[in-house]
Parts: sequence; C-alpha cells; structure tokens
Amino acid sequence: MAAIHSKNTKPELIVRKWLWSHGYRYRLNVKSVPGKPDIVMRRYRTAIFVNGCFWHGHKLRKAQSEELRVKSEEFTFDYENSKCCKIPKTNREFWVKKICRNMERDQEEYRILQENGWHCIVVWECQLKSKLVEHTMQQVELQLNKNFLSIYQHKFVPYIETEEEYLKAAEREEELKNR
Ligand SMILES: [Zn+2]
Repeated sequence: MAAIHSKNTKPELIVRKWLWSHGYRYRLNVKSVPGKPDIVMRRYRTAIFVNGCFWHGHKLRKAQSEELRVKSEEFTFDYENSKCCKIPKTNREFWVKKICRNMERDQEEYRILQENGWHCIVVWECQLKSKLVEHTMQQVELQLNKNFLSIYQHKFVPYIETEEEYLKAAEREEELKNR
C-alpha cells in the first residue's frame, strides 16, 4: 500500500516509463497546476493521476447488506469491500472514513482542474498489471490524442471554395473523429 500522494510509486513509474518510451514528454508535480497532479502534459492540457486502488477506493460501492455498513453520527458513508479495495475489518470506521475522504478530495481535484480547462486521466494501479499495462496505456494514448484534438481543432477553420473541397474537409473531420 503506497501512501496517498507519495511520489515515485511503482505504478506511477510504469506510466511514466511507457509515456517516455513512446515519445511523450511530461512534467511532474507542477505546482502551478491545481491539485498538483502526478503527471502533467501541457501540450495535451492533460493531468494524469496514477491512483492506488486501496487509498483511492477503486470500485467501492455502497454497502448492500446491513452488517457491512459503517455508520456514525458525523459520518454517513457506508461501503463494502471491492475487489480492488479491501477495507480492514479492524477499525473499519476509521478506514472507511479515510478512504472516502480521499475519494472526495480526488473528485474535488478533478473538478477544479476541469474548471480550469484541464483534462484528467485517472490510471488505476490494477490496470497496470503486466498483462494489462499495454492495453491501459493505449487507452491513455487515445485519450491524449482526443484531448489534443479538442484543444486545437477549433483553431483550424479551413477556407472552403468548392464542393469538392468541402467534401474532402468533411471526410477529414470524420477521420479525425474516429481516431
Ligand atoms: Zn483497482
């Protein structure tokens, strides 16, 4: 279990190594970007978070059965274990609170970033197992390219003279969309 926001965790290194070896350049923990995301890619206006499944409550869902619920006066969350996040039985209330607060903070960070025109990509620790890592990172790459397009697309408004040119431009746009 890596502590929340600890830097240079192994999952984060896997992501960085993949990005770097595929020609992507990034910066780490940029203070000027809200929330100090793990990896910042300005060119794509994208922040990448590499989240540990336990600390960030991956796939946690509301408890279905009464016995799993954790309740207290000041605290109303009730969650049961997920495959990714097994809340310790001992001192369960403490752990549920802690993890839920992390989850809330995550959502708040993503929201602030998005309000400031940043895209967020969350990569989960469990998605970086050796047999999944390639697929996961290809999805990240796809998202990066989409983000890039969404930033720059509107800047290129081609001047269209003939119908033929118009059709070509439409085709091109379709192509870009489907990438
Ligand atoms: Zn997970």
